[in-house]
Amino acid sequence: MQAEAYFQFMNPLIFLLFAAGFFCIHAIRPSRAVLLLALSYVVGAAAFIVDIFAQAGLHLIGSIPITAIYAGTAMLFSAALTLHYRGHAPWRLFGSVLAAHMAVYSWCYLTFGYGWGSSLAANFGCGVIFGLGLFLIRKHMPRKIDKAVFWLCAVGAFQCFARPLLVAYFSGGMTAETFDLPVFLMVLQFVVGACAVVLGMTLLVAFSSEIVSDLEQRSATDRLSGLLNRRGFEEAAEPIFEAGGGKDGFITVILVDIDHFKRLNDAKGHAFGDMVIAEMGALLGQYADYGRFAGRIGGEEFAMLLVGEPLDAARDVAEAIRRDFAALRVDNGDADAGAYRVTASFGVAMRQPGEALRELMTRADEALYLAKAKGRNQIACETDIMVHKLRTVSDGASAERRKFRDAALSA
Ligand code: GH3
Ligand code: MG
Ligand code: MG
Repeated sequence: MQAEAYFQFMNPLIFLLFAAGFFCIHAIRPSRAVLLLALSYVVGAAAFIVDIFAQAGLHLIGSIPITAIYAGTAMLFSAALTLHYRGHAPWRLFGSVLAAHMAVYSWCYLTFGYGWGSSLAANFGCGVIFGLGLFLIRKHMPRKIDKAVFWLCAVGAFQCFARPLLVAYFSGGMTAETFDLPVFLMVLQFVVGACAVVLGMTLLVAFSSEIVSDLEQRSATDRLSGLLNRRGFEEAAEPIFEAGGGKDGFITVILVDIDHFKRLNDAKGHAFGDMVIAEMGALLGQYADYGRFAGRIGGEEFAMLLVGEPLDAARDVAEAIRRDFAALRVDNGDADAGAYRVTASFGVAMRQPGEALRELMTRADEALYLAKAKGRNQIACETDIMVHKLRTVSDGASAERRKFRDAALSA
């Protein structure tokens, strides 16, 4: 083997390094798509290795199997992307295209031998397989990094057609004399190697960023209710408070606490209690739209932040949620137990200028306490607290007056 031939092993080495990277990602977050991708890089490395040996005169396997390994790489790669971006891979379709490609290549090779015809057939076939994968995922690319993957793959597919034609053009046309296998393979290894590196890097970034956003999502979300957890809620509120609540400056909060939840847990079991929490989560999720978001901030306590809605509007929202929740019949499927009615109490407060989330929550909590004290299954606003206090004071004063009058009369 020539000394420079050893440099050709760079390509399979790079392929194997990327395969290792994808295997690592699969180990962190198991995914069949990433596993397939890793496999496609391993098979690609194998294709390069047997090709390098064949070029050096050591024919480990024939041309048809080598071409089949390259095509298998293309198919595994396209299937992996389809599986990842669409959730399933049409294996039969990929299998049929692969079989058709191999039939055309084998016919060319067996009829004309090694030359332009069989080389074009080998490359065009891989281009069609890549192109099919791209066609299937073209509408399933949500993020910028995914779009980058798509366009880099498109370049990869395009080079399968353009590269052999350019090599033929610069070699002086497609004649038997101008077909120079070493030149053809050198260009193939260089271009495909470059494409594989750029694509591999982009895919690694795409998959790693998915893991990161997944972890972020998980650390901010409450599994049972599907809403934000306390941390997620506070983090989501932070920029809103910093921005001062948008153009109207209204920021209101609704605190929700399920009534007599402990009693319900004791009577129907913890699992049933969890179902009730999930129901409340789903209900709040329905209302958490257009500048509103909701979180589960404690065991059976929830909060909703409303941006751009004043106290009255927030009260109406709370009333709608209260009514919907009280109308729910939570059923755990147990025929004897039957459906169960649950209620919740609500405290509503509006942010004063310069106020922090914690202060706003404290006032909403006082309102919630009032709603509980007044008999539960109702809403209290922070303005009701003052009214309630005044009434309590005036009730106390009349009682004092009455006592004084009775004492005077009996004297
Ligand atoms: P009130 O009407 O005054 O709010 O009474 P309450 O019983 O709802 O309030 P309390 O704070 O006394 O009880 C809350 C109960 O919520 C106690 C706890 O066992 C239960 N709890 C907390 N987290 C969970 C949970 O994740 N699942 C279930 N099933 N129960 C929970
Ligand atoms: Mg509570
Ligand atoms: Mg409660």
